[in-house]
Amino acid sequence: MGTLPRITLKKGKEKPILRGHPWVFSGAVARAEGDLSPGEIGEVYSGDGKFLGIGQFNPRSQIILRLLTRRKEVLDSSFFRGRLLQADALREKELRAKTNGYRAVNGEGDFLPGLIVDRYRETLVLQCLTAGMERLKGLFLDLLVKHFGPKSIYERSDVSTRREEGLPEAKGLLYGEEILDPVELEEYGCRFRVDVKEGQKTGFYLDQRENRFSLQKVSHGKKVLDCFCYSGGFSVHAGLGGAKEITMIDSSEEALERVKDHFTLNHLERISPHLIRGDAFEVMRSLDSDYDIVVLDPPPFAKKKSHLPGASRGYKDLNLQAFRLLKREGLLFTFSCSHHMNWDLFQKIVFSAAVDAGKRVQLLARRGHPIDHPVDLSHPEGEYLRGMVCRVL
Ligand code: SAH
Repeated sequence: MGTLPRITLKKGKEKPILRGHPWVFSGAVARAEGDLSPGEIGEVYSGDGKFLGIGQFNPRSQIILRLLTRRKEVLDSSFFRGRLLQADALREKELRAKTNGYRAVNGEGDFLPGLIVDRYRETLVLQCLTAGMERLKGLFLDLLVKHFGPKSIYERSDVSTRREEGLPEAKGLLYGEEILDPVELEEYGCRFRVDVKEGQKTGFYLDQRENRFSLQKVSHGKKVLDCFCYSGGFSVHAGLGGAKEITMIDSSEEALERVKDHFTLNHLERISPHLIRGDAFEVMRSLDSDYDIVVLDPPPFAKKKSHLPGASRGYKDLNLQAFRLLKREGLLFTFSCSHHMNWDLFQKIVFSAAVDAGKRVQLLARRGHPIDHPVDLSHPEGEYLRGMVCRVL
């Protein structure tokens, strides 16, 4: 191995790295040597000269290095192939029988910081969130083609966080056939059509799969309110589970158009869902209180720590409205996908909403990430989805 560029940390700053955290912040660096241009692979040493690992630099970002290995090894195609196979082995074993849409690579959680790959049948959607992964895009395309034999690979790196890496947003076909129609996927018997080119995220909220299925199991004969429904994921599951009536709220016209398509695709004509386009905060206030189940799956309100107070008020208000709308013995499926909203705070907010609504509430289950969104325990920042299933008495 030739000499790689390297950074040396200030004394004592190696502690998080030694505990397995994959990020080095620029403030921790005492000295840099060699070419540290964005995406370059290089080494990190502690203040007293101990080798800590190899990763990808980006001097433009506050995270100056993302570690890929703690061993002295060459980071070539076979190294990355190993990581890809390790990620795929988990999905192959646990998910194939349940769905053909899943997250094949979950960035830091699969020890490939900054790389997201979602698989929708024979279509792959790629997101490169860092300069390091941007540089390796060609290598990963090659590996993905060889391993998955996809029809198409589409890039959805149209995310604003790329700006923090000094990268422009990027979107378009990277490999294979032009994608003309939505890609159909099946999830626990429910069928969905995913618009990988224009849909939210990479087209579908794969992270809520298990939680949607858990709703399916309790929906028989129930009157359901699905707030922030997007293309109807929770509602289609509720419908297939035998829900009697479904009301859905979303602010996006395109999302609600998809809902209609999904109800037809799943032969749920008997339900004729009530679709409301609008702001869930306002719409919920105008509804009457007779639902058996309410789902609250809002977008992240706290993308930054400084947003937490406002976000907390938002979650409190929504949960308060939900408790008001639920009948006795009704169920609330409530979620937060804000990184900064931890379990403790989220539970306190839901509790205080219950108090204000004057309801006695039981916590039946906590619900988080599915297995295709694994979290590296050394990198708790990777955990964002927190949900609770509550019963109102
Ligand atoms: N539950 C969905 C995913 C929800 S994503 C699923 O399982 O697929 C969050 C949704 O909230 C998006 O569809 C977005 O359009 C919608 N949204 C954002 N702000 C909103 C608001 N104020 N009122 C209603 N919907 C909103």
